Amino acid sequence: MFTGNLPTTSSENYRIVLPQSRIPTAWYNILADMPTAMPLALNPGTGQPLQPADWAPLFPMGLIEQEYSKERYIQIPDEVRDIYRLWRPTPLIRAVRLERALDTPAHIYYKNESVSPAGSHKLNTAVAQAYYNKKEGIQSISTETGAGQWGCALAIAGDMFKMAVDVYMVKVSYQQKPYRRSIMQAYGATVTPSPSDRTASGRAILARDPETSGSLGMAISEAVEVAATSGGKTKYSLGSVLNHVMLHQTVIGQEALDAMAEVGEYPDVVIGCVGGGSNFAGIALPFLHRTLTEGVKTRLVAVEPSSCPTLTKGPYLYDFGDTAGLTPLIKMYTLGHDFVPASIHAGGLRYHGMSPIISALVNSGHIEPRAYGQNQCFEAAILFARNEGIIPAPESSHAIRAAIDEALAAKETGEKKVILFNLSGHGHFDMAAYDAYLAGKLTDNGFSPEEMVKSLATVPQI
Ligand SMILES: *Cc1c(COP(=O)(O)O)cnc(C)c1O
Repeated sequence: MFTGNLPTTSSENYRIVLPQSRIPTAWYNILADMPTAMPLALNPGTGQPLQPADWAPLFPMGLIEQEYSKERYIQIPDEVRDIYRLWRPTPLIRAVRLERALDTPAHIYYKNESVSPAGSHKLNTAVAQAYYNKKEGIQSISTETGAGQWGCALAIAGDMFKMAVDVYMVKVSYQQKPYRRSIMQAYGATVTPSPSDRTASGRAILARDPETSGSLGMAISEAVEVAATSGGKTKYSLGSVLNHVMLHQTVIGQEALDAMAEVGEYPDVVIGCVGGGSNFAGIALPFLHRTLTEGVKTRLVAVEPSSCPTLTKGPYLYDFGDTAGLTPLIKMYTLGHDFVPASIHAGGLRYHGMSPIISALVNSGHIEPRAYGQNQCFEAAILFARNEGIIPAPESSHAIRAAIDEALAAKETGEKKVILFNLSGHGHFDMAAYDAYLAGKLTDNGFSPEEMVKSLATVPQI
């Protein structure tokens, strides 16, 4: 560490920031290029494929159309692109100091989505969703939030369009991350710890398990119920999983393609962490487009926590997106909608299911899933922070762990591999997690296959 030498310098461009004119003008829709047919969402009552109109109580038509669209490019409305200009294009950074610390011949690049006003990639879709709701005259939006990042992003976006935002926040995060709650309240949102007694589903869950730490599945049930029983005044908004959310996030990968061309490199591997799949989809799908249409090969690695191993341990089948079973049935990798993951600090990765798009692409072999324990991720996060100067979100540290492992593998083989990962957010509101790690108090909560078998027992047989 204390070598007495000054660091090596270079005149290469390590920080590529495109001008605002290069913010993408359209979102890229992978549904136009899917290598296998996408299984449709089903009505749990009839078992029949859901029609677009069936989603109308929950979402505005603009978003429902995107959910089903097979158009390859969907124009970004001027009002949305105008707001994107507050922080987009985000920088593409080559992590040269990290490369040197690892003594690897690999080049490591990351797309820095932590520079958004919300501190994560989630504002990319929050702004789009608030816009389509506002355009159809909706006055308020209900939603759930895990670690609080989605709630913060929607609170900011809702406030920009002067709409009320009603957030159900997973109880354990509400207690662990009081400042995230303050951010949402600063932007005028209402925040309720979930499960709560404000909804029938919350009351039912509390009656069954009064001490529950909450889960994303439970909070989704409450937020969906609020919209479904509002008589059309309130719509529901989801920060990940759905096709239209994957779509909105593709600004990340399109900019990354553009910026990498600027430095004349192309990634051999693209990495992202996965909770519901949106930041990974955002960076990876524009590269998959080139693979599918031009044969340009890039490995895609999706990283999840080993205590919530949806893609690496779960089966691929039809399940509910929430605990109470209020959502349609969607075909995805799932640990069962009753599964309550361990209270790890990467709260944004504690979801029992996965985006149907990402699930189908894992099933078809286009995406490699991988799982890590939280201690090895925090170790990677600290190494990254001490070389690149950014404290990453605990979620993003999963992608960093994988990028470091890819770079170390390249060191073994001497390969000049090009690695790209998405820094989905910063960790400035996650310092309690870093406190626990630095004090050696972070446990690697195991995953119990028995519990998964139990929660899979309540998954409907399709
Ligand atoms: C929400 C969140 C995630 C996980 O959600 P995805 O939809 O899988 O992207 C990852 N990183 C950060 C910083 C988040 O806020």
